[in-house]
Amino acid sequence: MDENEWRDRAECRGLDNAMFFPLSDDPSATRPAKKVCATCPVQDDCLSFALETGQPAGIWGGLAPSERRRLLLRLYKQGWSRSQLPSAAQLGRMQQQTWEPEAS
Ligand code: SF4
Repeated sequence: MDENEWRDRAECRGLDNAMFFPLSDDPSATRPAKKVCATCPVQDDCLSFALETGQPAGIWGGLAPSERRRLLLRLYKQGWSRSQLPSAAQLGRMQQQTWEPEAS
């Protein structure tokens, strides 16, 4: 698969971009985007992209910026590094085993 092909299957395609860039990490602000992400078939690819490219804002892979920072800290504690982060498939397996996004 082309490295950006996942974007073609994104559940958020065509939706209002502003929903995915709320002004705060407050659950009431992030909930609408997270609901869309929860049903997205490329959630792991999206999260992987955001972590690898250091996206500073917005909801990516169902996680707000503060949640991605916490995930990165957890990954670094597990031995991953900025230059070697888990693949999308590995993130998907980890999500099921070791961390959960905030309830929405
Ligand atoms: S996980 Fe969310 S932000 Fe990422 S592509 Fe899917 S719907 Fe869009």
